[in-house]
Amino acid sequence: MSNVKPSIDKLLALIESKEEELIQLTQALVRIPTINPPGDYYGDCIELLRSRLEGRGFEINIIRAEGTPGDDDQYPRLNIIARKEGSRSGPCVHFNSHIDVVPPGLGWDEDPFDAKLIDGKIFGRGTCDMKGGLAASIIAVEALLEWMPDYSGSIEISGTADEETGGYGGVAYLAEKGWMAVPRIDHVIIPEPLNKDRICLGHRGVWWSELETFGTVAHGSMPFLGDSAIRHMTAVLDEFEQKLFPSLQQKVTAMPVVPEGAKQSTLNINSIHGGLAEGFAGFPAPMVADSCRIVLDRRFLIEEQLSEVKLEVQSLLEGLTKSRENFSYSLKDLFEVVPSMTDQNAPVVQSVARGISRVFDREPEYVVSPGTYDQKHIDRIGKLKDCIAYGPGILDLAHQANEYVGVTDMVESAKVMAIATYELLSGEQTE
Ligand SMILES: [Zn+2]
Repeated sequence: MSNVKPSIDKLLALIESKEEELIQLTQALVRIPTINPPGDYYGDCIELLRSRLEGRGFEINIIRAEGTPGDDDQYPRLNIIARKEGSRSGPCVHFNSHIDVVPPGLGWDEDPFDAKLIDGKIFGRGTCDMKGGLAASIIAVEALLEWMPDYSGSIEISGTADEETGGYGGVAYLAEKGWMAVPRIDHVIIPEPLNKDRICLGHRGVWWSELETFGTVAHGSMPFLGDSAIRHMTAVLDEFEQKLFPSLQQKVTAMPVVPEGAKQSTLNINSIHGGLAEGFAGFPAPMVADSCRIVLDRRFLIEEQLSEVKLEVQSLLEGLTKSRENFSYSLKDLFEVVPSMTDQNAPVVQSVARGISRVFDREPEYVVSPGTYDQKHIDRIGKLKDCIAYGPGILDLAHQANEYVGVTDMVESAKVMAIATYELLSGEQTE
């Protein structure tokens, strides 16, 4: 190591000088409409990242998540991991961004894939969630490499598929294959749009399940000859209203979840269907429903156990089995993720926090996301705990019409990312 401490101010000035480049990179990324579902133009986006990072000396791996949901020759689930080794061994700092965006929907004032720059904001689908964050992390790393060409450890930048649809063709696959897992990587920053002065430590847990009640078909004019599965489901929903929803409201977490309403346990009924199939043009037939199904979306807190969360619903259903004639049901798990929260004293949290206090001259806010994101796979499958989400963009704008990312926010968050990377690689503290 040289004994002259490099000037952080020079690094920050270098990032400022790259503002135009940052705008252009963001625009180029947004102009590739990587809409998911179905997973459009992943190849084009990966190619843009490959050519840029290969040109700067990164070693490139392009990994197709074969056999994962939606993967076929028309829509291959493609991922890129770019790695640059330092001159000595040391930790690996990894920036992970998803390249997919949700469909634009209606209500846009500008073409959602034009990436127009208006008054210091770039508008378009994926600007905020999260191509602005991807571009900021690339500029941060490129500036850092210029400022400190000789370093220990390694830096990785990944662009991954399918976060918006669960991450199975992206981070989950890469974690299973050891790419995004210990011991290959040590610290992960996911530049999701959590606002430039907030550090997202993790997320609440989720349990999705499908509940079906059963009945007996009969003619609708003589319902007493059958048994309505819809009425049985009504009894279930009534139990939920009377008992479950009030008890969930009582459960409040110590996790710093935002927004405030998500500090409680929540339950959404994502869908309900019973009786005749929908989607036909003709006149319906008079039938007593022999099946009724709902999909439950239960979000739970770090203070709760998944088994207890399930038991709450199961015991209400068992109660109905005893109290209600001919009540029968099935309950099927669809998806479950336990809550994840990185320790506030973990190295990646501390180094990003010092970056935030240097760039914004105030302490960061620590938050937890109401819904899950790719950290769940890095934590559970990759067994890597030193992971956070930190990036530019206003969380509330994600997935909305007229989504944008502010240029100043991107530049400032790139500074924070560069400081954090420097600290994690060098083991030095910048203040
Ligand atoms: Zn996102």
